[in-house]
Amino acid sequence: MILYNSASRKREEFVPNHPDIVKMYTCGPTVYHFAHIGNLRSYIMEDILEKYLRYTGYNVKRVMNITDVGHLTSDADEGEDKMLKGAKREHKTVMEIAQFYTDAFFDDCRKLNIKTPDVVEPATHCIDEYIKIITKLMDTGYAYFAGGNVYFDTSKLERYYIFNDFKEEDLNVGVREGVEEDTNKRNKNDFVLWFTKSKFEDQALKWDSPWGVGYPGWHIECSGISMKHLGEDLDIHCGGIDNAFPHHTNEIAQSESYLGHPWCKYWMHVLHLNTTSGKMSKSSGEFLTVSLLEQKGYDPLAYRFFCLQSHYRKSLVFTWENLDNAQGAYNKLIARVAALKPDDGEVDQAAFDELDAKFRAAMDNDLNSSLAVTALYDVLKAKTNDATKLKAIGAFDTVLGLSLLEKAAVKREELKKEQLAAGAFTILSESGEVDPEIEAKIQARQDAKKAKNFAEADRIRDELKAAGIEVTDIPHGAKWKRL
Ligand code: AMP
Ligand code: ZN
Repeated sequence: MILYNSASRKREEFVPNHPDIVKMYTCGPTVYHFAHIGNLRSYIMEDILEKYLRYTGYNVKRVMNITDVGHLTSDADEGEDKMLKGAKREHKTVMEIAQFYTDAFFDDCRKLNIKTPDVVEPATHCIDEYIKIITKLMDTGYAYFAGGNVYFDTSKLERYYIFNDFKEEDLNVGVREGVEEDTNKRNKNDFVLWFTKSKFEDQALKWDSPWGVGYPGWHIECSGISMKHLGEDLDIHCGGIDNAFPHHTNEIAQSESYLGHPWCKYWMHVLHLNTTSGKMSKSSGEFLTVSLLEQKGYDPLAYRFFCLQSHYRKSLVFTWENLDNAQGAYNKLIARVAALKPDDGEVDQAAFDELDAKFRAAMDNDLNSSLAVTALYDVLKAKTNDATKLKAIGAFDTVLGLSLLEKAAVKREELKKEQLAAGAFTILSESGEVDPEIEAKIQARQDAKKAKNFAEADRIRDELKAAGIEVTDIPHGAKWKRL
């Protein structure tokens, strides 16, 4: 499989560190508000990466943090703690806010068929891990204590910028407009590992540490949680592109300085979901949630379908018109799957393998999900029986996560009910067998009965009996079996 690695800025063959397991880490949500559908775009694309790795036979262990402390409102370790801000807004405790929005996040994920990672760890559960890492960084001279806080010293690194060739000046968060410079920092990009002092003294959650009572910085949480559950190496680290700098850059700085060796092999960054006026963000006002999509009558999976139709390395513009189109296409897709007959013969393995090869080629090409969706449509057009098509659709959907077979089954039931309500005549076999010739004869008998030509109806019944077929009338239809 080819995967684009943001760290090398190259498409690379994916080879995990250990052949038997892929270790995957995902930056989880900051639970001070509902996730918006932009955040969820990142989680959808990361979900299909995990599911495709499993599809190709890898064992995957995936870990996600829940940021419930230490994420300030600016990247420069300044401003208010986001959790505290949420708690104040809603007159609740920080822990109540964290629990409420963690539950809300996983509700959204369930609606979007995003698998819950194997390990989900709130940042507040791993304080000892951070203290262990920071202690070593202090001992080895990578960190320093100033003005009550512990900082990482970025001047100790041979290379700090990993993901971009940004000009240093552009990235000096301390001098960005509207962000006050922290005079304790020796270098502009130094970042806080442990706070004991900040501009606000009402931080709700504090812990004892060798540097005084305080709380961890945001970046240390992901290094600590990853190492706690996945050890000293990592295969894939995921997140939205805004996390590349400074969050992931700082994660690499502190993890590799602590470990003394390279840490994560592949970095996957999902580009943003934008509105027509810019990046979708919690502060911009245009803040769309899964519940809002539902209130407006959309199926959350239509949004997932919309996301799959474009590549994760391209930014994606959300408009209601685009979502309407996705919902329409999704409904049609379900109707086409519902029209396939589940008992239509044996699976043709060779035909399945050919369809599967197209699907894999798409996904192997840096997760080309829109081509994978094309491979799904190719199944519907393929010259093979319905059993083979349904098997391929079911298989691909373990990765794409569109609930196609389940929704098609519901659709079939609805259609049956509609036909019954419209007085349609349903022909079923007791064994579930489908035989168009027999069905045509039973239909002809029904037509004769309707035309009050009972002699002809009886003749057809006797003809079927002579051929070993017994027909019984049922409400709104007939049932047949082989004698
Ligand atoms: P947060 O809850 O702010 O920590 O963000 C959760 C995840 O969503 C992170 O991986 C972010 O990089 C990602 N993210 C934030 N905004 C967007 C957006 N507009 N489009 C896609 N991903 C985003
Ligand atoms: Zn993170």
